[in-house]
Amino acid sequence: MYDVNEIRKDFPVLQELVNGKPNTFLDSGASAQKPRCVISRMSDIYTREYSNVHRGSYLLSEQITWDYEAARRTVRKFLNAKSEKEIVFTRNATESINLVAAAWGRKNLKKGDEVLISEAEHHANLVPWQMLRDELGFSLKIFKIADDGSFVWEEFAENLTANTKLVAVTAMSNVLGTVFPIKKMAAAAHRHGALLLADACQFAVHHKVDVQDLDCDFLAFSGHKTYGPTGIGVLYGKYDILASMPPYQTGGDMVDRVTYEHTTFEEPPARFEAGTPAIVEAIGLGVALEYMMALGLENITAHEQELVKYASEKLSGVPGLKLIGTAKDKGGVFSFVMDGIHPQDLAFILNKEGVAIRVGHHCAEPLVHRMGYESVARATLGLYSTKEDIDRLVAALNKARTFF
Ligand SMILES: *Cc1c(COP(=O)(O)O)cnc(C)c1O
Repeated sequence: MYDVNEIRKDFPVLQELVNGKPNTFLDSGASAQKPRCVISRMSDIYTREYSNVHRGSYLLSEQITWDYEAARRTVRKFLNAKSEKEIVFTRNATESINLVAAAWGRKNLKKGDEVLISEAEHHANLVPWQMLRDELGFSLKIFKIADDGSFVWEEFAENLTANTKLVAVTAMSNVLGTVFPIKKMAAAAHRHGALLLADACQFAVHHKVDVQDLDCDFLAFSGHKTYGPTGIGVLYGKYDILASMPPYQTGGDMVDRVTYEHTTFEEPPARFEAGTPAIVEAIGLGVALEYMMALGLENITAHEQELVKYASEKLSGVPGLKLIGTAKDKGGVFSFVMDGIHPQDLAFILNKEGVAIRVGHHCAEPLVHRMGYESVARATLGLYSTKEDIDRLVAALNKARTFF
């Protein structure tokens, strides 16, 4: 049984009042709240167990190294990767994608090659490829989505060619909520000899990820969106591909033998974790993923899908409100505009009601423009969201209407 009211008790911040109102937190898509188990584990480490990893020959360092590596094994389980050696800890998904661009891309891409992305990418999966294109001279192709935000197979497939070396796509749009068919896309990419990178920042929050089933070559996500701390992200990569890549950054912890003349590097994942890592954050992320797995990813998806249906109906009933992104296959992301009210003013009024939403271009400026707007409001759901949250959002939107 998925008892959301019990689950909410695990999240201290949700018990707080905001502007004297219940905390109606509908910005989990930007960053999710943290359960008490994550907060207290991290605090415990700093209180009793802290030291650096992979170095010391004393108890605390051995213990924390074990915990850090145990977190890696938790991520392996969360993604169903074959081996924990395929799990690289980064700072966030942005760094994970930049790592692929810098280490795999710079080695493997050249003039005449193509990298294929979609219109629905977050800046984190657009700008690194633009920069690298300008440096290396390959071509960056962008396939279209439908006006309602749906994925269109033909648009994708027609842009795959013998020159495509990499397909880098979001698994779930942070603006439209659209879920992309990553498994089918990866199979198609492989038929053309290309690799596939999935940006699973949003997808991994709401769905079970199985990298072996998806057969993606790289997958990135951020700890702070999966109920873990900031400052920690994950890059999954198939081992042979990671092993073929040069380091991303260099320095301590990632080297094998160093002389004044020459250096050899560690095997993955250590090769890609230069310097002191985000130790406590990695362990916190492990706790967050264990928390999600204990609830059951399928249960989280089912709970949220019910809310998606409920919110779609309720929001469609608000006079003058237009939903942006109404694909059939979508998750808990609701972008919208309201007739005659600037999104910024809307957020201001909602805030007074204790309702937190985000406004702007959501780090996907070309996508928001492509949908026909400069700025949109966005409400996003998490595993702790309720129908009451949606009701309070709708009430606040109706109140906002009376001011204009
Ligand atoms: C949040 C997000 C990112 C970037 O994540 P960071 O944690 O800011 O690095 C990339 N892609 C999508 C789809 C996102 O939602």
